[in-house]
Amino acid sequence: MSTLVVVGAQWGDEGKGKVVDVLAERADLVARFAGGNNAGHTLVVEGKQIITHLVPSGCTYPGTQCVLGAGMVIDPEVLEQEVASLRAMDLLRNDELRVSLDAHVVFPYHRQLDGLREDRAGDGRKIGTTRRGVGPAYEAKAARRGVRVRDLLDEQALRERLLKNKDALEPELERLGLATLDVDALVERGRGWGERLRPVVCDAGALCHDAITAGKRVLFEGAQGALLDVDHGTYPYVTSSNSVAGGVCTGIGIGPTAIDRVWGITKAYTTRVGRGPFPTRMTGADGDRLREAGAEFGATTGRPRDCGWLDLPALAHSARLSGMTGLCVTKIDVLAELPTVQICESYEDGVVPGVDSLEVAVPRLRTLEGWGDPSVVDGLRSATSRADLPGVVRAYLDLIEDQVGVSVALVSVGPDRSQTLRLADPF
Ligand code: GDP
Repeated sequence: MSTLVVVGAQWGDEGKGKVVDVLAERADLVARFAGGNNAGHTLVVEGKQIITHLVPSGCTYPGTQCVLGAGMVIDPEVLEQEVASLRAMDLLRNDELRVSLDAHVVFPYHRQLDGLREDRAGDGRKIGTTRRGVGPAYEAKAARRGVRVRDLLDEQALRERLLKNKDALEPELERLGLATLDVDALVERGRGWGERLRPVVCDAGALCHDAITAGKRVLFEGAQGALLDVDHGTYPYVTSSNSVAGGVCTGIGIGPTAIDRVWGITKAYTTRVGRGPFPTRMTGADGDRLREAGAEFGATTGRPRDCGWLDLPALAHSARLSGMTGLCVTKIDVLAELPTVQICESYEDGVVPGVDSLEVAVPRLRTLEGWGDPSVVDGLRSATSRADLPGVVRAYLDLIEDQVGVSVALVSVGPDRSQTLRLADPF
């Protein structure tokens, strides 16, 4: 067996796109198990930037199968656009894409609801969603009126589901000043999506299972981060699905015994978009400097991200939630551009993530010396092994390993594939 799960270890945007892209080089199949196009991955391949929202990062390699699992919610219009732009770059042939029959479908009314609910919520009550309709689509799924990909292939099932949604949503649509659902038009649209998806739909769980038993290398790619998990994250400021590694089992349809390794991706600092607790959040000029240095603006929404120092208690919590066996530390080059670096080793008053809400966590920060030297950046960029890394960077990685209890498997020192130090084998 050779399976690797890669998940975000923070609040998303950890650089998963780049890391999964690097790891996917050796994978035969890459599958996503949760979320929708609220995720955004920025890949840089031979100097060209590629942004994907639904298709897994493995799409840049010929012959790698890219699978969208049952735990996802899929906006077919976004998928079609994404596939078209990848095709224009000669990437992702039809036989490389597979979509689960059981994934749920995001309709335009989900997007409208998502946006208008946020607009009307008033400042204190906004979640900070990406307004892509992902939350309302998961809501329909939990209420057992969601439309699955398989329903797009069956006009009667599709009509029945849409009628249920029309009944359920009518009062809210009216209150928000939106037109009621035009079921005939939606059936027509849904059937069109279904026909175009027909060549790529499948039982994605069986496909992954068969690949695993055939000894293929399978990579499961997480979206968002563990601290945004609907059950284990900073609720209610979370995403609507399970972003911890366990989400692979339910979101793909395989058992936990099929998973060999779990790698968590963390930036060398922390960022967060949307609302919710963020103990090491920086305000003022320091935060601005880190945001500029790391180009911390959302790939999906363009929103500026809040920035803060690396939070080791939160990272250790996240490592436990996902049973991480390796850590991938990204954007460590960004810290080299700052005059000083701090790191959170614990919280005041013995606050413990999980037991206590992170709302009440006040970080104890340690300041590290000698980081802002330009030679550190040169040393980082030219390193080919851990021993080559500048001393301050090695000490930083040692501190992370020590406090989190998980070894560093990969270090990313720039956005390009070549700017990666691999310290362990993914498969
Ligand atoms: P994701 O959703 O987790 O993939 O995160 P993003 O799409 O926000 O990616 C983070 C951004 O950082 C992208 O623009 C990447 O090209 C870039 N990036 C990834 N790794 C590194 C790194 O090690 N150093 C620098 N400077 N940029 C990186």
